[in-house]
Amino acid sequence: MAFSPLFYFFTLFTLAINSSNAQVSVIESQTKRQVSKFDNSTKYIYLTFDDGPLLGTSNCIDICTHQQAQATFFEVGLHQERAAFGKGLYERIIQNQSLFALGNHSYSHANNKYLYYYHHPDMAFHDFLKSKSTLKLENNIVRLPGNNAWNTTVLKKSSSLVTPLVHKLDSASFNVIGWDVEWRFNKKGFPIGSPQKMANRVDAAFASNHTSTKNHLVILMHDHMFRSPGDSLKLANLIGLLKTNPNYAFRKITQYPGLINGGR
Ligand SMILES: [Zn+2]
Repeated sequence: MAFSPLFYFFTLFTLAINSSNAQVSVIESQTKRQVSKFDNSTKYIYLTFDDGPLLGTSNCIDICTHQQAQATFFEVGLHQERAAFGKGLYERIIQNQSLFALGNHSYSHANNKYLYYYHHPDMAFHDFLKSKSTLKLENNIVRLPGNNAWNTTVLKKSSSLVTPLVHKLDSASFNVIGWDVEWRFNKKGFPIGSPQKMANRVDAAFASNHTSTKNHLVILMHDHMFRSPGDSLKLANLIGLLKTNPNYAFRKITQYPGLINGGR
């Protein structure tokens, strides 16, 4: 759906002068427009980077900024908090809210002991609350460490291992976001497969409707995959390849359809 700038401006202007509180009216109008601007001819891609802030996060920020590709960083509270390095990267993300969203990837990342973590859902739930506080998150959007689960108003997918935690998160109105396609990495943390191969996988998933929500596709990547100049170029190339399709558009995860309370 395309709005002409003149029409958009006129709509906002009309709303503003009809309100006793013009500024609030404009903000509300912009928010509604963001939520409902999907159209049937466009396929929406959500670039998501997990586990930062880490080495590699800076390159992800630079590349997405240069390409003007909206993206989401699912951060680990501990990684943000433990050093000035992490706090600096966090600041770069939150200062560019038109391009970037921040998501909650837990405080501890389960210390990478996933079975123990998910067998203690109360502890895990408080780990997410701690991360929300550390990251000063206004949204209620989380991604589980090491587990592809979903919980929105319409998507309910979780393994028996994580379901007790997902229920706790749901009762507190948290959305859980998984992924449709992952760009995997090898034992050294380097991306497996070429950008072209990844772009082909995205095309195939859309074509076969193998996405959690029709015409919406979430790509999982990890910040640390792109810490070297050569691998950063692969990320830039993937985004460039996806941008050659005029029907593709990038969005932040805060714009994903069906979020509980609109993600707030
Ligand atoms: Zn992770």
